[in-house]
Amino acid sequence: MSEHSEHKEGFIPRYVLKQMAERGNEEAEKTLIQMIKIEEKVEKEKKKTQVTNLLHSGNVAERLIYDSENTDEFKRKLIRKEGDPPVHDEVVNITYDFCGKTLEYFKSKLKRNSIDNLGMDVIANVHYFDGELNNAFYFPELRQLAFGDGDGVLFKNFARSIDVVAHELGHAVTHHVNQLKYERQSGALNEHFSDVIGTAVQQFVKGQTADTADWLIGDEIVGPNFPGKALRSMKAPGTAYNGDKQVAHFNDFDPNLPLADDDGGVHYYSGIPNKAFYLTAMKIGTDKAAFLWYTAWHNRRIIHRHATFKEALKAILESAETLVNRGELPRETVSFVKNAFEEVGVSTLVPV
Ligand SMILES: [Zn+2]
Repeated sequence: MSEHSEHKEGFIPRYVLKQMAERGNEEAEKTLIQMIKIEEKVEKEKKKTQVTNLLHSGNVAERLIYDSENTDEFKRKLIRKEGDPPVHDEVVNITYDFCGKTLEYFKSKLKRNSIDNLGMDVIANVHYFDGELNNAFYFPELRQLAFGDGDGVLFKNFARSIDVVAHELGHAVTHHVNQLKYERQSGALNEHFSDVIGTAVQQFVKGQTADTADWLIGDEIVGPNFPGKALRSMKAPGTAYNGDKQVAHFNDFDPNLPLADDDGGVHYYSGIPNKAFYLTAMKIGTDKAAFLWYTAWHNRRIIHRHATFKEALKAILESAETLVNRGELPRETVSFVKNAFEEVGVSTLVPV
């Protein structure tokens, strides 16, 4: 990986797979090698595909679910398209439903029309790779999702988890909204926004609220050999599994972490804004907090490609003021946001 500008990580970050491989897990080792092959495949695919003409069938997004039939092929065999009745393959049906639920959340809670706000079709490939792949992806260049089946030991089928599907579609939205560079603080904000979408859609689907949700990310895909309950905890970053490297306070942010290490800590440091989001959601509710964040994310003057946590806070505060004045958020929202970020060590008053 020479260029860090695009989101190229799967749902399972490389560092997690490396941790598992170091503990002698062969499946994790295998997945790391597979991810290199997938990257090569995507590079090839990028060159041959003219994606731009194939994205809209109208201004209402259609879902197209393909079966990769345990190969690395994209759009290999169309199994279910928008409006089709359920098919034999349960994984296809679940993917169809979860993509639908995510689009429904975008429309009803965020007022967004699919990935690009213009009704872009959602293309998903299931049974991607060898039938045991321990990962899920959104490839921005191909405008496609791909889900591995998991080996059943370390991880279970990725398409069966709503927060995985929504997290990946969150990356797709970021790609269209502000293209946060996938390294260091901007990369952590990119990851963070996907977790916001992941948890918000999961709570929506499960009928939960900020108080009743578990705030775990990836809890439905961890298998019996995974050393913990989830990949991340937004409520208590660093506690999801044995070896969880996420931090919950800006004191623990290391600006000199090499880019070779999790792209400069995009998944370690997303814990900082994740916790601030959790704290805000506990005050105003998850949907209102998600709408606030989503609105702020459009302030590209402040949340530019290289934005920092402090800049994100500034944009969120500006949007909070606007939305409060419009009567769309509770009056105390601005101070709730300030307090939440102060608790994780990010303040607009202190220079970073
Ligand atoms: Zn991600």
